Amino acid sequence: GNFVPPIRSSGGNAGNTTSRIPGKCEDSLEDSTRKCLEMLCGPDGELPEKLRNLEPRLIEHVSNEIMDKDPNVRWNDIAGLDHAKKCVTEMVIWPLLRPDIFHGCRSPGRGLLLFGPPGTGKTMIGKAIAGEAKATFFYISASSLTSKWIGEGEKLVRALFGVACCRQPAVIFVDEIDSLLSQRKSDGEHESSRRLKTQFLIEMEGFDNGSEQILLIGATNRPQELDEAARRRLTKRLYIPLPSSEARAWIVRNLLEKDGLFRLSEDDTQSICKLTEGYSGSDMKNLVKDASMGPLREALRQGIEITQLKKEDMRPVTLQDFEDALQEVRPSVSLNELGAYEEWNKQFGSLS
Ligand code: ADP
Repeated sequence: GNFVPPIRSSGGNAGNTTSRIPGKCEDSLEDSTRKCLEMLCGPDGELPEKLRNLEPRLIEHVSNEIMDKDPNVRWNDIAGLDHAKKCVTEMVIWPLLRPDIFHGCRSPGRGLLLFGPPGTGKTMIGKAIAGEAKATFFYISASSLTSKWIGEGEKLVRALFGVACCRQPAVIFVDEIDSLLSQRKSDGEHESSRRLKTQFLIEMEGFDNGSEQILLIGATNRPQELDEAARRRLTKRLYIPLPSSEARAWIVRNLLEKDGLFRLSEDDTQSICKLTEGYSGSDMKNLVKDASMGPLREALRQGIEITQLKKEDMRPVTLQDFEDALQEVRPSVSLNELGAYEEWNKQFGSLS
């Protein structure tokens, strides 16, 4: 049962190279799984050591569902957060681009924590880092590890770090990292989630020796839940706050301009900024979506059939549309919550 048959690689010089895909007989592998494993084989046609004892279907899941070959976000897509962008550039992008310069005293931390209210651009920053540093991006939500992958989370974590190792430079983004590395009492903790946490910390130690080009980014809306071990490993901790007034104006302009719908005056844009104090980036996006429906709703109210409606006959989006949308889209973060983030930032943040 342990016999591992070599299989032919479909690579360029097919016929000469063979790849070893352990654990499964050649015939029992789905075509898609085989293709995926072949893509991870080295120039010698062999599967890298790190992946040899992993289940092929998990490697395939990581490659197809968790790995994002083209995250397609750049710094310019993110409103505001200039200070965070500057720090991240120095802390992680330059080291990923120039590992030859950033070693020894200059060797970067391998773990970065982005914390703050939901919908403020933490995931966007993770993707932009990968985009700017030309790194492979892996996105996983920690809560899916505990809910969707019950009992298999550990194996998936090993597959995730294994594939990332073969795809360096790599950025592993773990959303809701608090649900994985929380400080909940160990007796109340489920045995499997304790094992998952241990496995995760082991994997993090594994690439923390400086030779690997892998960066782990954890994101959380609940930094208070992280335990000391997690804080120690996530050496840089950046607060990602709600967008400033300028950043909110930028989001409105940028989203409407993309669709050729931006006709607001400077005064109207400023009024929208004043009315949206406390809105997150994602609240702003929902607001713009709702406001942009205004002209359409009005045309339909006037009795025009949706099928007969001409785009060029629709009026532009106005301040009134935003005022109407504000009744529907409320800010998702409360003042209380903001205070807690600021407190935690003062105590543990890298840029207080
Ligand atoms: P988080 O990870 O902090 O919960 P995301 O990065 O997933 O938030 O942001 C959700 C959506 O909100 C993004 O896809 C984007 O449309 C919008 N958004 C949030 N923050 C910003 C920002 N600073 N600039 C531009 N868009 C933003």
